[in-house]
Amino acid sequence: MKCPFCGSLQDQVLDSRPAEHMSVVKRRRECSECKKRYTTFERPEEISLMVIKSDNRREPFDRKKIWQGIDRACRKRPIAAETIDKIVNEIENELMGEYVMELPSSLIGDKILQKLWDIDLVAYIRFAAVYRKFGDVDTFMDELKKLKKEHTKRQKGQSSK
Ligand SMILES: [Zn+2]
Repeated sequence: MKCPFCGSLQDQVLDSRPAEHMSVVKRRRECSECKKRYTTFERPEEISLMVIKSDNRREPFDRKKIWQGIDRACRKRPIAAETIDKIVNEIENELMGEYVMELPSSLIGDKILQKLWDIDLVAYIRFAAVYRKFGDVDTFMDELKKLKKEHTKRQKGQSSK
């Protein structure tokens, strides 16, 4: 961001939060040169949120990648494209609101799992299989049994309310 007072490109983000029904993110910034503070309103696609990968490399946050990951897990499942859009929007808004500049990639994976859990168990398991990289079939089957049990329990709990 260019400082409106001195034109410097060096700044520090002090605070970041969604504004106006989440379509814009409001950021409080401080110029590193003149130390004056100013507020910016940014559309999510303009924000340079960096994702820290497991090997510590950083890459720009990419909404498309999240979309593709979820889409792959939902293939041939009764899940509408609008539902996937909704999940991606929710995840994006949550991340933009909670994180100022950087976030670990594992956090994105966890959020996707959380959303899929509520929508479709098969999609959840598919995503988990890729994301957690189940080493062998036994581990995968164990995990599957555990999940099914938990899922049934939770659904029963919800319907009895
Ligand atoms: Zn300045």
